[in-house]
This record gives sequence, structure tokens and C-alpha cells, in this order.
Amino acid sequence: MSYPRVIENLIEHLTRLPGIGRRSAERIVFHLLNAPADYSRLLSESIIDLRSKLRFCRICNNFTEGEICPICTDITRDGSIICIVESPKDAIAIEKTGSYKGQYFVLLGAISLSEGRGPDDVDLTKLIRRITDSSQPVREIVLATDADMEGELTALHLIKTLQPYGVKISRIGIGLPSGGAVEFADISTLTMSLNARREVADNRTPAPQVTPATMVDI
Ligand SMILES: [Zn+2]
Repeated sequence: MSYPRVIENLIEHLTRLPGIGRRSAERIVFHLLNAPADYSRLLSESIIDLRSKLRFCRICNNFTEGEICPICTDITRDGSIICIVESPKDAIAIEKTGSYKGQYFVLLGAISLSEGRGPDDVDLTKLIRRITDSSQPVREIVLATDADMEGELTALHLIKTLQPYGVKISRIGIGLPSGGAVEFADISTLTMSLNARREVADNRTPAPQVTPATMVDI
């Protein structure tokens, strides 16, 4: 005997979520049935709001409910330094350190050969518009992509693309374990990594060659 269709439907949807198997889905369904009806309504409204109200900042691609995110509109932040991260989760991890007061640019995905995402799939249009905006000069770009192969490849692509704009480019990395993801780094490691960022290119140095040696090095 199987559950009524409404239960089976919900179980099926829940099992599509990461880390949720059928047993967990059944537990969630029975939890919802035992909880006040209002809770199910609030939960479903939150899920709908996630897709209908959340958008990406027009300037930096970070999460926002308006057109421009709170960080881009915060006049107390240093607009001359931009930290480039792979996802909004990374920006949140860096914000938790409390040691970074510049702005961000979120790539919304790194170069990934295994997933068929090449350099052309990383949209830098907004970033270049921001760098070339003379009303808000940028003096430093901090590359805070992950310390794995995808993150390193993406950092190299960014160096190559951004170097002609004559902006100092630095890379976090010290303290981050090889292969480490920014979003999972603990606060002290991330703070150390940001403070110890090293310059990888500016307008006085030639663009590095993309070779396996430099990929490991950077
Ligand atoms: Zn923004």
C-alpha cells in the first residue's frame, strides 16, 4: 500500500533536494502534518518568494531584493577595491570575517572544463563596466576564487582579461588549503588569506603565461 497521492507528490519533490532521500522526505512530510497548518503556508510562501523576489544586483551580481544590493549602495564601503568571488555564498563567507570593507563582483560560476563551462561563459560585462566607470575609480581587484583547479583557471582568465585596464590585481590564497573552497574556509583562515593577498599583476607587469606551472603557482 502506498501513501495518498498528495503525500507521494510531496515526497517526490523533496527527494529532488540535495541530501534528501525517501526516508528523510517521509519524515519531513509527517513533521509538516503534525506542525500547525500556518507553518506549511509560511514555508511554501518562503519558497515562492525565493524565486519571485530574489534577483542579482545590477552592479555586482550579488543577491538582492532590490535592483542594487546593500553592499553596492553602502557609501561607507571602499569602492576602489573589488573582491571577485565565484558565488554569493563566498561573499557572505568573506563578510563574516568583518575584515573586508570593499565591494564585490560575483562571477556566478567558475570556468569548469568538466561541466563544459569555458572562459566565454563567465560574463565579465558588468565588471568591466564597473572598472571603466571614471566616477568610481578602482585601484585594486582581489581574486578570491576557490583554490581548486576551476578557481585557479578562472583566476588566470581574470588576470589576462583585466590586466589591460591597468588595475592592480591580487590573489588570496595563503592559508587556504589546496583545493579549498572560499565558502567553507573558517573565519580566521579567510581573514589571514585576505590580509596576506599578494599582487599577481598590475599595469607594469606582463600578463602571465597560462601553463601548468603557473596554474599551480598562482
Ligand atoms: Zn551589488
